[in-house]
Amino acid sequence: MSNMTKEQAELRASALKAEIARNSYLYYVQDMPTITDAEYDGMMRELREIEAEYPELITPDSPTQHVGGYAKPGFTEVHHITPLLSLANAFSPEEMEEFDRRVHEGLPAGTVVEYVVEPKIDGLACSIIYENGRFVRAATRGDGNVGENVTENVRTIGNVPKVLKPVPGVPMPELLDVRGEVYMPRHAFLKLNEERQEKGEQEFANPRNAAAGSLRQLDPRVTARRSLAFFAYGIGTGALPTHNESMDRLQQYGFTTTEGRTKVATIQEANELIRAHGARRASLGYDTDGVVVKVNAVWQQNILGATGKDPRWAMAYKFPPEQAETTLQDIVIQVGRTGVLTPTAVLDPVKLSGSTISRATLHNEDFIKERDIRIGDRVVINKAAEIIPEVLHVVPEKRTGKEQVFHMPTECPECGWPVVRKEGEAAVRCTNPHCPALSREGLIHFTSRDAMNIDGCGPAVLNQLQEKGLVKDPSDLYLLTEETLIDLDRMGEKSAHNLIQAIAASKEQSLDKLLFALGIRHVGAKVARTLALRYGTMDALMEASQTELAQIPDIGPVIAESVVTYFGDPGNRDYIERLKELGLNMKMLGTAAANENHPFFGKTMVFTGTLPTLDRATAQTMAQEVGAKVTGSVSKKTDYVVAGADPGSKYTKARSLGVTIIDENEFLRLLRG
Ligand code: NAD
Repeated sequence: MSNMTKEQAELRASALKAEIARNSYLYYVQDMPTITDAEYDGMMRELREIEAEYPELITPDSPTQHVGGYAKPGFTEVHHITPLLSLANAFSPEEMEEFDRRVHEGLPAGTVVEYVVEPKIDGLACSIIYENGRFVRAATRGDGNVGENVTENVRTIGNVPKVLKPVPGVPMPELLDVRGEVYMPRHAFLKLNEERQEKGEQEFANPRNAAAGSLRQLDPRVTARRSLAFFAYGIGTGALPTHNESMDRLQQYGFTTTEGRTKVATIQEANELIRAHGARRASLGYDTDGVVVKVNAVWQQNILGATGKDPRWAMAYKFPPEQAETTLQDIVIQVGRTGVLTPTAVLDPVKLSGSTISRATLHNEDFIKERDIRIGDRVVINKAAEIIPEVLHVVPEKRTGKEQVFHMPTECPECGWPVVRKEGEAAVRCTNPHCPALSREGLIHFTSRDAMNIDGCGPAVLNQLQEKGLVKDPSDLYLLTEETLIDLDRMGEKSAHNLIQAIAASKEQSLDKLLFALGIRHVGAKVARTLALRYGTMDALMEASQTELAQIPDIGPVIAESVVTYFGDPGNRDYIERLKELGLNMKMLGTAAANENHPFFGKTMVFTGTLPTLDRATAQTMAQEVGAKVTGSVSKKTDYVVAGADPGSKYTKARSLGVTIIDENEFLRLLRG
């Protein structure tokens, strides 16, 4: 670190802040992380190191200074009575000892400190308020001060008491703020993902994301079907003199508290328990990502206090991501809907994070070469909070000499056409525009959750429909009848009926879903939404020029070219025409109905300058989500300019035109509605 000049450190710190903000948004608001927790923690660690070296670079908005997380638009807000904080992390017994040293230094000389050790549940934090023993309100952590009102959702969780059990001799507290973790047991997570896979819906990456996505549903009936559970681990308001007593009291009131909670007298004992928990965590029915060690006495906690982000009286020991060793039996090729050949490892099945892993992605040819992964190798795979299991590295000591070097095929395994690898790209693609894999995977994509969301249309059904020649492209789905469906394997009258209904209902999907469903290269769910919000109708988008598209924030030349090429193809134009004739909706819907009253709805907004905590793309997406139009230049039609540091000419222009200029704080305040 010390080989960085201050200027370099400053640049790096601001890059890290932007990346952290972007990923926090994906993680906390979308429940869709795109990087691993370890990568995220690595960035936080690097930022902390820079800030330790150059404390003058610590700004109040740094992610090291406040709790990461936002309240999701759509929920009403709850202001926490006392903030919900995060936890500082340690990764080794030595770091735990350092924590112990700091605790002692912070307390009067000679203070005897007791700790309580308990598992760190991998779910999401929740505060539940009881007034005179009755459940009245529940909220997520949000940004620590303001959370999402999830009262009705939490009410559906079976082991959350709706009325506290009276404790003999103890008056019912007027106000009790119970803190704990909402989580999804592993069996429920596996079952949910199985169901989603069958329905062709996107699976959740891990139980934490599944819990967060299930709790934060606008319709609590959906939450009710998701088998969530709650572990209480603390009291915000209404605590007893020690943590341990508080927890015992919560049990008496009827809560399930963290299992294995143990009081110890030294940090060495705590380290022992951490080791023991590490050995048995795989056999638990729920995910834990560490162990929390807390100072037991509340008077000591009060003296130690908190940083902006973490209490100084508690420490989370974080386990490294779960890994396992197994044999790589083979490398097979999967051809995706864009014709990309993805090498996949076939593994000797191995247990990891509560599920059995028999496949892992190898990403591409370069990945295999760089790590020198050979068929027959012993390999280490990891999962934990991974999106998909991944081969981390081989175990070269265990090579026998019989391992085989893998070569990417020169022909597509699906259709035999030659494959190409464009310069500068890692991907190898099939050159056949009519490769059967394209239409098969394209169909799966079309019906998937984030696209047309057609329930009951999993790969098994689609395969049969294709094999029987009933469906050649997605438009044929809309011509199916119950009678034809009943002839399929494992298709009863009821499911045929339901499927036809689901197909018909999908005609009403909004333009953004349809655009994503089309599978235009480089047009993911987010880009589709940006385009749909910007143009409103399919016709308007089809007429847009490449120059115009390229100027839209988040779009750029590559996507613009791909969109124009797609709509320029007569075959594609016919296909869209066919979908139109079949009655599919071609307009952007939903935002209008849902958010008409939102202060940003229908407003034209321009962003300029560096915002203190959000990176620009994130802020723009947040605005679009509630129905704002984001444009690149200021005119009389602009309703708001959101300005950060060093704003430049857009700012000057906005001032001269008298356009309302707001800062990030005001933006976030208005965004909450
Ligand atoms: P954290 O999850 O590491 O720790 C704080 C939380 O632990 C508390 O809010 C509480 O909910 C929970 N907890 C569980 N058991 C507990 C117990 N017994 N006692 C007290 N608290 C307990 O911190 P965080 O700030 O919520 O989130 C950071 C985590 O999220 C990191 O693991 C990070 O990697 C991950 N993250 C990942 C991404 C990504 O893109 N992959 C983005 C943002 C955050």
